[in-house]
Amino acid sequence: MVVFTSIDRLQHLFWRFIDSGDAILTESALKVYSGAIGDGYRQIDNAIGEILRKAGREVTVLIVSDHGFGPLKKYFFLNKWLEELGLLQVKKGLSPKKFNFRFTNMHRVLTKIFRDTQKLRWTKKIPFPVVKVLQRDTDELIDWEKTKAYADPSGGININLRSREPYGVVEPGEVEELITYFKSRFSQLVDESEPQLEKIGDWILRKEEIYSGPYVEEAADLYYSINERSYLHNRRVDVHSKFGLSSLGSGMHRKNGVFIMSGPLCHQCNSISPRMIDIAPTVLYFMGLPVMKEMDGRILAKAINPDYLKSHTVQHVLSGEYREKSPEYSSEDEEKIREGLKGLGYLS
Ligand SMILES: [Zn+2]
Repeated sequence: MVVFTSIDRLQHLFWRFIDSGDAILTESALKVYSGAIGDGYRQIDNAIGEILRKAGREVTVLIVSDHGFGPLKKYFFLNKWLEELGLLQVKKGLSPKKFNFRFTNMHRVLTKIFRDTQKLRWTKKIPFPVVKVLQRDTDELIDWEKTKAYADPSGGININLRSREPYGVVEPGEVEELITYFKSRFSQLVDESEPQLEKIGDWILRKEEIYSGPYVEEAADLYYSINERSYLHNRRVDVHSKFGLSSLGSGMHRKNGVFIMSGPLCHQCNSISPRMIDIAPTVLYFMGLPVMKEMDGRILAKAINPDYLKSHTVQHVLSGEYREKSPEYSSEDEEKIREGLKGLGYLS
């Protein structure tokens, strides 16, 4: 199994050079960087070609991505918007910056200025005050007792529910009304500086509408998408407007990714529409490994040669039993894995 991460990084950074409308790009910058993403794909294509030549035609190959890509227009400062709606309050008179005082010694400071500080060793004994300006954590800036909803770090929205949240103020009986109000405002959301976009909210869903299983409670109460996720969720409250330019590059993930399957086990591969969660069980099955019962996805049986499916029954196990059912490595295999990990720098 090979993972190519460079194409993700390239698209985050260089998307604006293939899909701009960005007035600050100069001709010379365009000339240098507009080929970066294409070049990245070509290099990976060459690498895959080399792997496939070595693997031979008898190997079934899957090429998958865990997301697609598209433009990143702006940050959406959700807490700022909640503040505008009167659902969140920021503490008054508390600066978003805080100062961190500590003492170092004079010698450390001089080392940064002069090359040869040997003669100044005695300055190690002289204390020197250092002040660092730190960004105060968003949670510190929120006045929780006057806040009904807030942005969750996972990209969602949480209700500040009494009995669940440390400073919860919303009674369980108020939740439905709050969500209805919130959804209606979200459906009216516009970015005045982008009038061509009209209403920018795509969808807003409760966690139970997206997830199922024993850990649903761990998710945020609501999740949302704005303009195909080109507006990125951000929790900051020390900003002037609910929208702001991103400092994170110009490309961001999209829901739909790449799925390519070929080789002898492939059967009507073109006719399937796999879900992301189906990839892991399918790969485990191809590798001759058991599939965990707790996995939400299903093996892509429609895309697999029926004779192979008949002669290779799927083994389902609970994750707790996984170790027992997995094939044991021989000591020779273990040595090979150890060498491989050493080569990658994971073991020393
Ligand atoms: Zn990424």
